Amino acid sequence: MKLLEERIQKDGKIRDGGAVLKVDSFLNHQIDVELYNEIGKEFFRLFGDEKVTKILTIEASGIGIACIAGQYFDVPVIFAKKSKTKNIDGGVYTAQVESFTHGRIYDIMVAREFLLPTDRVLLIDDFLANGAALEGLIQIVRGAGATLVGAGICVEKAFQPGGERIRSQGIRVESLARIRSMSEEKGVEFC
Ligand code: 5GP
Repeated sequence: MKLLEERIQKDGKIRDGGAVLKVDSFLNHQIDVELYNEIGKEFFRLFGDEKVTKILTIEASGIGIACIAGQYFDVPVIFAKKSKTKNIDGGVYTAQVESFTHGRIYDIMVAREFLLPTDRVLLIDDFLANGAALEGLIQIVRGAGATLVGAGICVEKAFQPGGERIRSQGIRVESLARIRSMSEEKGVEFC
């Protein structure tokens, strides 16, 4: 998606020796709602024929994007909650996720009442790096016996293994901006 790529080139900041792309001025902290709207529209263009019944994302940064997409699909949006407690009572689907940005493991959960075996689920998230967040969401969809339609990602860091790992399971992953490489000296190069 040209618009997103151009914005990353213009306002993205590369940190941690080329490992992390900060997009705090338009995607992750301050939000450019017009850009979110174009992203939501693009996800609908890509997955609109898939008879999606629920959108599933993970807190916090996926929520806003998923909500705008949800307006185009006209379906409810669920966000997996990050839980610190080890003993979560029944009534929830859980998965463990290793955080790329925070370097720790946490549980995510979704109440069973919101995901049904009849659901056709689209996953949405801001970044795809090692794939841990998506893997956790996939586990939750499978746990519910729902159908996974695919995943819509804003920014895929294609030099990390997540995209390959998830596509090799036969899951459709559509990333609006795919980064081939990035460094503080050379900037961002797209696929
Ligand atoms: P993964 O689980 O695929 O390794 O990482 C995905 C999650 O980590 C995303 O939900 C996102 O919040 C965060 N993340 C991974 N890489 C980056 C990055 O380069 N920049 C930002 N802002 N977030 C990232």
